[in-house]
Order: sequence, then structure tokens, then C-alpha cells
Amino acid sequence: MKSGIKALCFLCVLWGASVCLSLDREAFSITNYDLNLQVEPEQHRLGARGKITLRNDTDTPQKIAVLQISSSLDWRSIKVGDKVVQFVRQPYTSDIDHTGSLSEAIVTLPQDIAPKGTIDLDVAYEGVILLDATRLTRIGTPEDFAKNSDWDRIDEDFTAVRGAGYVTWYPVATEVANLSDGDSIFGVLDRWRKRETGSTIHLKIDLHFADPRPAVLFGGINCDPIVSEQTSSVNGLLNAECKTEPLRRDSPTLLIARYGLTEKRGVEIRFLPKHDATASRFADAAESASSLVQDWFGPPRESAKVADLPDTDAAPFESGVLLLTPLANSNSNSAGLAAAHQLTHTSFLSARPWIEEGLAHFAQALYLEQQKGRQAALDYMALHRSALTVIEEPSTAPRSGDETIHSLVNTTSEELYRSKAMCVWWMLRDMIGDASLKKVLAAYKPEDDKDPSYMQHLIAAQSPRDLQWFFDDWVYHDRGLPDLKVSSAYAAKTSTNSYMLTITVDNLGSAGAEVPVNIKFATGEMTKRIEVRAKSKATFRIETPAAPQSIQVNDGSIPESDTGNNVFKIEPPKE
Ligand SMILES: [Zn+2]
Repeated sequence: MKSGIKALCFLCVLWGASVCLSLDREAFSITNYDLNLQVEPEQHRLGARGKITLRNDTDTPQKIAVLQISSSLDWRSIKVGDKVVQFVRQPYTSDIDHTGSLSEAIVTLPQDIAPKGTIDLDVAYEGVILLDATRLTRIGTPEDFAKNSDWDRIDEDFTAVRGAGYVTWYPVATEVANLSDGDSIFGVLDRWRKRETGSTIHLKIDLHFADPRPAVLFGGINCDPIVSEQTSSVNGLLNAECKTEPLRRDSPTLLIARYGLTEKRGVEIRFLPKHDATASRFADAAESASSLVQDWFGPPRESAKVADLPDTDAAPFESGVLLLTPLANSNSNSAGLAAAHQLTHTSFLSARPWIEEGLAHFAQALYLEQQKGRQAALDYMALHRSALTVIEEPSTAPRSGDETIHSLVNTTSEELYRSKAMCVWWMLRDMIGDASLKKVLAAYKPEDDKDPSYMQHLIAAQSPRDLQWFFDDWVYHDRGLPDLKVSSAYAAKTSTNSYMLTITVDNLGSAGAEVPVNIKFATGEMTKRIEVRAKSKATFRIETPAAPQSIQVNDGSIPESDTGNNVFKIEPPKE
């Protein structure tokens, strides 16, 4: 950090303090990348040369642009047309890169760029990309765990580089991201991806390889080989062009490995040597999940792409329809869950993470329910919920500011837009029914989703229920979790020898819910759903054929801050 400050002071002298004070790293976004990459896996080397287009995203003219690449890469030149432009190199500590630092170029552009104006720069940079988990180990993450998380590298047997957020192998422009500072890195990445939405990236790759020739994949799609020649008896040069891809919220990922391919309905699986059997098991699981996913989320736009990771403990990673996962570790249960998730991404698209990711996790719960019953789905959601109860812990501090920042429509926290959103979709499904929710999903158009309330309106068109309170408590605000308990229950014998039970359910939390209440009696059980708003009570009556014994609120489908108070024993009723 210190060297960064020193360099900045140096810049202040060069340009005058006013320039320095207004150094805005996020002033420009990059709307197009046209890059030629030289990859030499044996040397771990990456060389890049090409054109990038910068757009001024601010309201004022800008003359200084900041470009950042991984600290293991070096800037070689930056030009506008034929003219070399002046730029200052400096290291910039930021956890957006696996090395924990960036090589920054502070570029003086030849002229002011007007708001929304663009400029093309010819850039060249090169260096090595080695396995590096510095950003994690320096904050105390155990080395093994850190390396299983930051597994990117260019290596002879296997090359995988994920984009912004992992390895900055193409230029970005971001403010500092700090892993030890809460949501900082997610906030920085979220801003960057929003600015990059609609940008395009076009790659030409020259790969120096040792036999046999590996496959080159970008975003899970095979890059077309243009020329492939043997340069010696054991070495070759592959020249490949990758499909131009508009960047979404994804992290553009380059893979070079000797993959085999197996394809089944809706999924392409690329596996490493000796993993044929697990790959076909995965393909079978995907096939078994595909009807369910299509029934809920519609026909696929493209195939799901799964690619193998060589390190068996590597953390899986997903980007759009691509999933990178160690196939050696997968069993048919985990493969089915992963397939249900990835297939959902091929059918359903949304720019809102709580919808896009929430639904893909919801699909996993639906898959388990189909395979093993509702309880298996609830158990699965309970695993996710343990993370949620920590993050949603009732706090003594006022939540007002956080309510909006951490709402599902705004959050950058994965626990919230994945785990909490999954529970929200499950609750919505329990409240409006499968048929209505399927119609809602069929009516969803990502291009029309311009307002956070769009989904609520689609639901209102299919269900007569007023769910404003639910969206207020769960989607538009983060009001924590409900805490449900039976506050009282009285049973009275009727003239027909049945029992009339009066139950009052209390919600001590700040989020309302429609909760299933299960009543057990000697000869069986009954369940009734009851809506209990935040900080409120609701009373209902139910007739049971035998003396009621116990009541349980919440079958596990509602995330709660305290589930220790959910069972209520009933005193034997007075005759
Ligand atoms: Zn996903």
C-alpha cells in the first residue's frame, strides 16, 4: 500500500495536486477487448497484445485513465494509434487479483474524453500466471484451503484462468478491493461487472504446446483452431480464434487442457484422462434432471458446459452456463444437484442475482424433492440456512441502512442471493402453488425486468394473494428472519367427541411468513398453513379427531433465527 501512496505523491508533483485528488479509477469502463494472446504453458507465460476501447462513464471530461492487470504481468506499451502515450506504472494492492496486487498503468490520454465518449488504446503486456493464493494466505487462510480456492494457473498439464475477481489477465479499472473488509471485494466486482455488461471480448490465441494437442476453451466453448502445426516431433503451435462473447455477470474463463468430451441431452462434459466413468455418471444425472428443469424453467437456450478440474479438492466454480468442478469427486447425488443448477442457467436468464442464482439453487431443492421427497429438500435447504442464521443474526444496532443494502434486490452477498433467495423461492412456491409459479417464470423476460418490483407484478398477475408484505420483508428489505413459536394452544372436547384446538402463533422476528403448523394426535397428524406477520400473532382453530398432543410450527421451509422454540406440548384437554 505504501508504495502506491508514494507513487501517487510522485504523480501529484507531475500533474499537480488537482489531478491527483481527482484520480478516479472507475471513471472508464472497457467496452471492447480485441486481444491476441501468446500462451506458453511450459513457461507459465502469457503475452497479450491488442486493442481495447475505453468509455468515459462519468459526467465530466476525463484525461487520465487507470488500467490494471495482475501483478505477475507487466505493461509493455500503451499507444493511441501510432503514438506512444505517457503512462506511469505502479503496484496497487487489491484483492481483486489472486496475487493480492495489480500492475497499474496510469495513462495520460492525448486529449480529454467527453462523458460517454470512447477512445481506442493499443496495449501490450506479458508475464507469468502461477498458482498463487497470496490474497488469502495473508489474511490467515490455511494454505491448503487457499490453494483449493485460488487454483488458477498457466501450467503444462492444465491451464485455467478465471477473469476479474480471480486473475486479472485482461485490463480492468477498479478501486481497491480488500478481503478483510466485509463485502468490499464483492462491491468492487459488482460495480465492475455492471459497467462491463454488454462489453465484448474477442480472443485470438497462439498456443505453444507439447503433444498431444490440448483443447482451448473460452467460457466453456471450444475455440476454433485456425492453424495447427508441429514445430518439432513433440511440440506444436496452435492458432485458435474464440467466439466473441458479450460479457454478462460472468467471469470470462480461459481453459487449456487435454479434455475428452461426452455429450448428453442439454449438457457437454469435458473430462480429464481416467475420468470417463465419472463423466458419464454426471451425464446420466444431468439427463435425469433435465425434464424437471425444463418443466419449471422452460427449454434451454444452449447446452450446459461442465469441465473437469484436476485437483480433487478444488472448489467448484460457475460462470453463466459453465461449471468447473473436480469430476473425480462427484457421486450421482452431487452430480444431479450440480446438473440441476447448471441446466437452470441454460433455461432461465436474469441479470438479478437473487433471481438467477436463487432459482438455480431452488432447482436443486426441487430436484432433491423429486428424487427423495420433500424432507430431503428441506434438509438440503437447512444446510444453506446455517450460513444464513449467522449473517442474519439479530443485531442490537439499528438496521435501517443495512435493510436496503442487504436486501435481496441489492445485495452482493452470496449467502443472501443464493441461500436466502433459494428459501424465498421455496416459500413463494408454497404460498402460490407450483402451477402459478411456473406460469410466472414462463412470463419472465429479462429485458423487461427494469424495476425491482417486476417479479412481484408477474406474481400478482398469476395469484390473487396480496404479497406486498412478503416482498417488503424478504426481497426489498433485509429484515432478518422470523422467529416463530406457539404462544398458546387450548383444546376442548366437542359434543361429537372430536377436539377443537385454538392455536396462537407468535412471530417475534421482523420478517413475516406463512408457516405450516403441524398438529400431532394419537391417531395421526394434520397441517395447516397460517400467515403470521412480523412482530405479530395469529390465532386459528382446527378440529382434530383425537386429543392433540403436540404442535410444531415450521417444517423447516421457513428460515428462522431460532428453531429451538418450535415445538409445543399440549396439556391433556379437560373432559
Ligand atoms: Zn449458478
